[in-house]
Amino acid sequence: MSECVFCRIVARKVPASIVQDDGDVLAFRDLNPQAPVHLLLIPKSHIASVSDVTMEQAPIVGQLLGLANRLAKQAGLMDSGYRLVINCGSGAGQSVFHLHLHLLGGRPFRWPPG
Ligand code: AMP
Repeated sequence: MSECVFCRIVARKVPASIVQDDGDVLAFRDLNPQAPVHLLLIPKSHIASVSDVTMEQAPIVGQLLGLANRLAKQAGLMDSGYRLVINCGSGAGQSVFHLHLHLLGGRPFRWPPG
Protein backbone atom coordinates (compact mmCIF):
# COMPACT_ATOMS: atom_id res chain seq x y z
CA MET A 1 0.00 0.00 0.00
CA SER A 2 1.29 3.45 -0.94
CA GLU A 3 2.58 5.75 1.78
CA CYS A 4 1.13 8.72 -0.10
CA VAL A 5 -1.73 10.21 1.91
CA PHE A 6 -3.70 11.19 -1.21
CA CYS A 7 -3.29 7.68 -2.68
CA ARG A 8 -4.62 6.40 0.63
CA ILE A 9 -7.63 8.74 0.35
CA VAL A 10 -8.23 7.38 -3.18
CA ALA A 11 -8.10 3.84 -1.74
CA ARG A 12 -10.46 4.93 1.09
CA LYS A 13 -7.78 3.96 3.65
CA VAL A 14 -7.69 7.51 5.03
CA PRO A 15 -10.99 9.29 5.70
CA ALA A 16 -11.74 12.42 3.70
CA SER A 17 -14.74 14.57 2.96
CA ILE A 18 -15.13 13.54 -0.68
CA VAL A 19 -17.29 15.85 -2.77
CA GLN A 20 -16.85 14.23 -6.19
CA ASP A 21 -15.54 10.89 -7.42
CA ASP A 22 -15.35 11.25 -11.14
CA GLY A 23 -13.61 8.42 -12.97
CA ASP A 24 -9.97 9.37 -13.04
CA VAL A 25 -10.20 12.32 -10.65
CA LEU A 26 -11.34 12.92 -7.09
CA ALA A 27 -12.25 16.07 -5.15
CA PHE A 28 -12.34 16.39 -1.38
CA ARG A 29 -12.31 19.14 1.24
CA ASP A 30 -8.95 20.40 2.48
CA LEU A 31 -8.29 19.40 6.10
CA ASN A 32 -6.97 22.88 6.87
CA PRO A 33 -9.15 25.21 4.78
CA GLN A 34 -7.77 28.61 3.79
CA ALA A 35 -11.13 29.90 2.53
CA PRO A 36 -14.84 29.09 3.05
CA VAL A 37 -14.56 26.86 -0.03
CA HIS A 38 -11.27 24.95 -0.18
CA LEU A 39 -11.29 21.78 -2.22
CA LEU A 40 -8.42 19.62 -3.43
CA LEU A 41 -8.75 18.00 -6.84
CA ILE A 42 -6.42 15.12 -7.61
CA PRO A 43 -5.80 12.49 -10.25
CA LYS A 44 -6.43 9.04 -8.79
CA SER A 45 -3.15 7.78 -10.22
CA HIS A 46 -0.04 8.93 -8.44
CA ILE A 47 1.85 11.81 -10.09
CA ALA A 48 4.17 13.50 -7.61
CA SER A 49 4.04 17.02 -8.98
CA VAL A 50 2.80 19.06 -11.92
CA SER A 51 6.39 19.13 -13.18
CA ASP A 52 6.24 15.33 -13.52
CA VAL A 53 3.23 15.35 -15.87
CA THR A 54 4.20 13.70 -19.16
CA MET A 55 2.60 14.46 -22.54
CA GLU A 56 0.66 11.19 -22.20
CA GLN A 57 -0.62 12.24 -18.78
CA ALA A 58 -1.47 15.82 -19.81
CA PRO A 59 -5.20 15.09 -20.40
CA ILE A 60 -5.59 14.49 -16.65
CA VAL A 61 -4.80 18.16 -16.06
CA GLY A 62 -7.66 19.04 -18.41
CA GLN A 63 -9.93 16.74 -16.41
CA LEU A 64 -8.91 18.51 -13.19
CA LEU A 65 -9.73 21.89 -14.75
CA GLY A 66 -13.07 20.63 -16.07
CA LEU A 67 -13.97 19.32 -12.61
CA ALA A 68 -12.84 22.60 -11.01
CA ASN A 69 -15.19 24.47 -13.34
CA ARG A 70 -18.13 22.30 -12.39
CA LEU A 71 -17.43 22.44 -8.65
CA ALA A 72 -16.93 26.22 -8.71
CA LYS A 73 -20.32 26.57 -10.42
CA GLN A 74 -21.93 24.18 -7.91
CA ALA A 75 -20.44 26.21 -5.04
CA GLY A 76 -21.89 29.42 -6.52
CA LEU A 77 -18.50 31.05 -7.06
CA MET A 78 -18.96 32.29 -10.63
CA ASP A 79 -19.86 35.87 -9.68
CA SER A 80 -17.47 36.31 -6.77
CA GLY A 81 -14.57 34.58 -8.51
CA TYR A 82 -12.29 31.89 -7.22
CA ARG A 83 -8.67 30.89 -7.24
CA LEU A 84 -7.00 27.74 -8.59
CA VAL A 85 -3.54 26.97 -7.23
CA ILE A 86 -0.98 24.27 -7.94
CA ASN A 87 2.09 24.48 -5.73
CA CYS A 88 5.09 22.87 -7.42
CA GLY A 89 7.98 21.92 -5.16
CA SER A 90 8.57 22.58 -1.47
CA GLY A 91 9.95 26.06 -2.21
CA ALA A 92 6.53 26.99 -3.59
CA GLY A 93 4.69 25.46 -0.64
CA GLN A 94 4.00 21.95 -1.90
CA SER A 95 3.73 19.69 1.13
CA VAL A 96 1.95 16.65 -0.33
CA PHE A 97 3.76 15.12 -3.27
CA HIS A 98 0.73 13.90 -5.17
CA LEU A 99 -0.43 16.38 -7.83
CA HIS A 100 -3.37 18.46 -6.56
CA LEU A 101 -5.25 21.55 -7.61
CA HIS A 102 -6.52 23.80 -4.84
CA LEU A 103 -9.94 25.36 -5.54
CA LEU A 104 -10.42 28.32 -3.20
CA GLY A 105 -13.39 30.64 -2.98
CA GLY A 106 -15.87 32.45 -0.78
CA ARG A 107 -13.58 35.31 0.25
CA PRO A 108 -11.57 38.03 -1.52
CA PHE A 109 -8.02 37.19 -2.65
CA ARG A 110 -5.08 39.54 -2.99
CA TRP A 111 -2.79 39.67 -6.00
CA PRO A 112 0.13 39.16 -5.99
CA PRO A 113 -0.37 36.38 -3.45
CA GLY A 114 2.95 36.95 -1.60
P1 AMP B 1 0.21 21.77 -0.75
O1 AMP B 1 0.81 22.56 0.38
O2 AMP B 1 -0.05 22.56 -2.00
O3 AMP B 1 1.00 20.49 -1.00
O4 AMP B 1 -1.23 21.35 -0.25
C1 AMP B 1 -1.46 20.21 0.51
C2 AMP B 1 -2.80 20.40 1.15
O5 AMP B 1 -3.27 19.12 1.57
C3 AMP B 1 -2.81 21.30 2.38
O6 AMP B 1 -3.68 22.40 2.15
C4 AMP B 1 -3.30 20.38 3.50
O7 AMP B 1 -4.14 21.05 4.40
C5 AMP B 1 -4.02 19.30 2.73
N1 AMP B 1 -4.10 18.00 3.36
C6 AMP B 1 -3.07 17.27 3.86
N2 AMP B 1 -3.53 16.08 4.30
C7 AMP B 1 -4.85 16.07 4.07
C8 AMP B 1 -5.89 15.12 4.29
N3 AMP B 1 -5.65 13.93 4.88
N4 AMP B 1 -7.15 15.44 3.92
C9 AMP B 1 -7.41 16.63 3.33
N5 AMP B 1 -6.48 17.55 3.09
C10 AMP B 1 -5.21 17.29 3.46
